[in-house]
Amino acid sequence: MLLDPLQSRLVLRAALENRFAVLAVNADSPAAITDVLEAALACDAPVMIEASLWQLTGLSFGAGDPALGMARYLVDLALMASAGRYRNLPILFHTDHIRGPGALPLLTASVRGLSTGVDGSVVSPSTVSVDSSQLSESENVEALVAIAAAAAGAGRSVTLEMEAGVDDGVTDLETAARLLRGVEERAPDVVHLWAPGVGTRHGLGDQSAFSAEAVARHRDHAGRILGRPVGIALHGSSGLSPESLRRAVESGVVKVNWSSESLRIRSIAARDFYALAGATLESPGHVDWKSTAMDQGVQAYVSDQYRPRVVERIRFLGSAGRGDVCRAVLSKS
Ligand SMILES: [Zn+2]
Repeated sequence: MLLDPLQSRLVLRAALENRFAVLAVNADSPAAITDVLEAALACDAPVMIEASLWQLTGLSFGAGDPALGMARYLVDLALMASAGRYRNLPILFHTDHIRGPGALPLLTASVRGLSTGVDGSVVSPSTVSVDSSQLSESENVEALVAIAAAAAGAGRSVTLEMEAGVDDGVTDLETAARLLRGVEERAPDVVHLWAPGVGTRHGLGDQSAFSAEAVARHRDHAGRILGRPVGIALHGSSGLSPESLRRAVESGVVKVNWSSESLRIRSIAARDFYALAGATLESPGHVDWKSTAMDQGVQAYVSDQYRPRVVERIRFLGSAGRGDVCRAVLSKS
């Protein structure tokens, strides 16, 4: 089941109360999405699929058109999430790291509902964030307020993640207060995820500056500022040890973004597949030529390498077997 913005809040709240985190995978292709859903299904875990601008404009989705890419991505995921196999699995779709001059038009359009082109139906994300790395504090606040206003104007709910300097060390509490209050005063009860800097960095570099204490401090502080429990979204989780992940979750992280390491596992598997299969591709008469040359060949090999790693990550975050907890809170809504 693909969760709407209000259902997403319930799952994020359940994660905070029950001390687990939802794995949020930045997925590049329909094959990658399928692999993540299969891994989540195997351990009955709620899971989040995220898309950044490069996926929306890439050849698997929008082919240069981010709005078309967002609609295609969402339609693909919604169709999968409603299929019998995944119907009981809590699945969220999140917009991750969308920036530049086209970001706000794209995000406001998406929360109003993007046309699927079929029978007038529309789709919209479960949760939305704005990449604030190129924004001032006031621009960051204005962007979230504008997205909330766009959703309200269309009579739709929205659930936002606010971020601040996620690659710039630990965000100070004064900055956090200005940002969170800035949105809350003008758009109450839309921010349900807070992504401050907690010492991690995007990419595959050193993560020794990660601070679980900063996570706990920001969780408490954001909860006081907003007047409701708010979980922390962790950016730059690639390279964190299982113990660091466990402490992050224990301290209040409810959503863990996973991109660089995920891309690395998939691309190395693809490289290995073609290294192993290279001779077959040179021999068109070979009995395995077609099964090697078709997209399914490399995708199946990558799946075999990748899915167990996704399952492992889900287990590190304590979300394996938490489908029941999520379905219980969703059934009461
Ligand atoms: Zn990030």
